[in-house]
Amino acid sequence: MKVLVVGGGGREHALCWKLAQSPKLTSLYTAPGNAGMAAVAECVAIGAEDVDGLVAFARDTQIDLVIVGPEGPLVLGLADRLDAAGIRVFGPSAKAAQLEGSKGFTKDLCQRANIPTAAYGRFTDADAALAYVRDQGAPIVVKADGLAAGKGVTVAMTLAEAEGAITDAFDGRFGEAGAEVVVEAFLDGEEASFFAISDGEIAVPLATAQDHKRVGDGDTGPNTGGMGAYSPAPVMTPALVDEVMTRIITPTLTTLKAEGMPYKGVLYAGLMITDKGPELIEYNARFGDPECQVLMMRMESDLLELLDAAARTDLAGKSVTWTDDVALTVVMAANGYPGSYDKGTVIGGLDAAGAPKDVEIFHAGTSVKDGKTVATGGRVLNVTARGATVAGAQATAYAAVDTVDWPDGFCRRDIGWRAIEREQA
Ligand code: AMP
Repeated sequence: MKVLVVGGGGREHALCWKLAQSPKLTSLYTAPGNAGMAAVAECVAIGAEDVDGLVAFARDTQIDLVIVGPEGPLVLGLADRLDAAGIRVFGPSAKAAQLEGSKGFTKDLCQRANIPTAAYGRFTDADAALAYVRDQGAPIVVKADGLAAGKGVTVAMTLAEAEGAITDAFDGRFGEAGAEVVVEAFLDGEEASFFAISDGEIAVPLATAQDHKRVGDGDTGPNTGGMGAYSPAPVMTPALVDEVMTRIITPTLTTLKAEGMPYKGVLYAGLMITDKGPELIEYNARFGDPECQVLMMRMESDLLELLDAAARTDLAGKSVTWTDDVALTVVMAANGYPGSYDKGTVIGGLDAAGAPKDVEIFHAGTSVKDGKTVATGGRVLNVTARGATVAGAQATAYAAVDTVDWPDGFCRRDIGWRAIEREQA
């Protein structure tokens, strides 16, 4: 099969790396890709949100399956356009991708389908939202409705913080994404990410992961796109996985299908494991980044076969197998991230760092200049390792990190700490 992967981050590198192992693959393209992906796929210079360009390329190249990595093109309707052009696609329609594109849409769906989630209100004007938070009190959570690059959520521990977040959103801080605001109750517990693949009719559970969103050790400092992750998430017992499938994933898919927007693609549920059981924090319409990297390191099944079956509405009877190993990834970012940072700094030592058999280095933001690998983004490398335990995978990952020669980059030194504490308790 000829496959096109849309995107150019660590998530897409990990997907390409795994797809390249499939005996069913004949050619692999990625748009736009990155320096690391060039080792496993042909990079095509088309932007991930250039819907016209992607459809034309897929048609002209006779691509059999397009796999969409990021949410942006999905919300723009890339899957609908490919579908209309008769090209098979793994990724939801724009309507179904509202699960990620509109927090209010998802909250209303949860209410209709009786899915456990925090109590909430939706607001299109500041006064009503302010009155609601003053009535509810803090802690409380304020969210811009639309896509805000992970920056639209304020977990307000004081009323003043909540009021500030509401004023900011309606003052246009998140542009159109903040024209509507969702305010919801604060949920207390441990977070976990749960992934399933749906063909529009049924879902197959994948695996669980946990990530570290804060930039600093000990989960301190500002939020980022994710500084590291590991799989499986020890908090997710098999009983909890069953409960999440029955009470959250299946009713979501059944409701979307009944309402004429069947969901094909990855369902990524952000969960809070509370005293009352798992509650849905949010949905994403794609694999998490960097969670995808650790899932791909553990997956034994043929990824291409699986995603193609989902795209063909043929998941019935399929399941996915995983190694018992733990996988852990450390994100190396440019100094200054998530604030401003330099681009174009040179990275060395990658071949030696990636040489051990249990290590893979996925590129998140790199290109090649004058024969050297250079950093082109905030999050730049995902140094990923497998091990029998979280502590073992962590030690292997950091040994590889220390072999990378990049004075202009940094990483957290404690990825997996919570799971290691559990392991050693
Ligand atoms: P989201 O973009 O909706 O996943 O929110 C980003 C982060 O905010 C989540 O990963 C949680 O850490 C936190 N968060 C979101 N909603 C809640 C909530 N209702 N209660 C507590 N924390 C939340």
